[in-house]
Amino acid sequence: MIRINDNYLKLQASYLFSDIAKRVAGFEEANPDAGVIKLGIGDVTRALPESCITALHKGVEEMAADSTFRGYGPEQGYDFLREAVAVNDYQSAGAEVQADEVFISDGSKCDCGNMQELFAVNAKIAVPDPVYPVYVDTNVMAGRTAAWSEGRYGGLVYLESTADNHYVPALPSEPVDLIYLCFPNNPTGATVTKDELKQWVDYARENDALILYDAAYVAYIRDESIPKSIYEIDGAREVAIEFRSYSKTAGFTGTRCAYTVVPKECRAFDAEGNRQDVHPLWNRRHTTKFNGVSYPVQRAAEAVYTEQGKAEVKELTDYYLNNAALIRERISALGYDLAGGKNSPYIWVRTGTDSWEFFDLLLNKASVVTTPGSGFGACGQGYIRISAFNSYENVEEALDRISAALG
Ligand code: PLP
Repeated sequence: MIRINDNYLKLQASYLFSDIAKRVAGFEEANPDAGVIKLGIGDVTRALPESCITALHKGVEEMAADSTFRGYGPEQGYDFLREAVAVNDYQSAGAEVQADEVFISDGSKCDCGNMQELFAVNAKIAVPDPVYPVYVDTNVMAGRTAAWSEGRYGGLVYLESTADNHYVPALPSEPVDLIYLCFPNNPTGATVTKDELKQWVDYARENDALILYDAAYVAYIRDESIPKSIYEIDGAREVAIEFRSYSKTAGFTGTRCAYTVVPKECRAFDAEGNRQDVHPLWNRRHTTKFNGVSYPVQRAAEAVYTEQGKAEVKELTDYYLNNAALIRERISALGYDLAGGKNSPYIWVRTGTDSWEFFDLLLNKASVVTTPGSGFGACGQGYIRISAFNSYENVEEALDRISAALG
């Protein structure tokens, strides 16, 4: 008898964004002329930078001639991209990362979802609350949690991120082994200071723990004092893995390219407590289960690091940050407390009511889609997330409608 993995039965019935999609579809069917504006799911709307498009075309042309054609590439990514990442994203920022510590992939969702495979099934997991749901669900699938009860999975340690701690959680009060952190944060838009991040690195070093640091939104950091990489913190190379993606950096959500950094010194422990290097294990996992990102896409990602590419990425992220600033200004003017939207494309708004109720209010009265905070965890109840990923005109129109609906 073929048995399923029972852990899958513990998963909450539906993914947050499919719930939202259902409600929006129902509303649009009933109101076909409403002109719904979507500031919900964190998907970019603007075209790829021209430098990336040029490189992508060139890559495709190379595939069109036998003399320049490429078949399977290295699973870990081509050297030209791994080298460009190490130099531009790390070494030039004063963080020590070598090209062979960079693993190119087709997305950070996969990487931060897959990484937990390397660790014991009884590892104690700490996740932020509110949280990017992938960290939680992949650990549920792997059997590291008990059943869902009263809005949380048993067995996980939830790191509460609230207005009181400026959405940077305190160190756990019980021992944990694997810690997920995400800054700039999805969904709160919060950022972390170097001192705060150092506390986490020190915690991991003192407690033989490991940090999975998700920096998917690093391209939105403008404040020079905010750390871009966890490797800016002394001692992090032994205790941290970092994820980055071209999705929100350069509009690659539909093109797919990302990377994970696993430093050579990064360590975990075997059952006898002996130190084991994580780098060869991730290399083994990645090369066994993944066959590389397509050559033209890696060339497009490489173009991000040209002078033109850097300027275009800045212009693209500035555009969304400008939307975010407008959202902050207009929602604050309506009297709502909010966080994020500076150094981040997300604005986290305290609603004063149930998250879904407020979501429905904005959908029904303003034809604007947001994301109910409660979908990201218990601490998200009473909040909504507004995304700055849309055209400036649509954001302005959405804010006019929200002001009319709530004003
Ligand atoms: N990490 C966070 C925090 C995200 O919000 C997202 C996407 O929304 C991802 C990772 C996934 O990015 P990718 O498109 O590279 O899979």
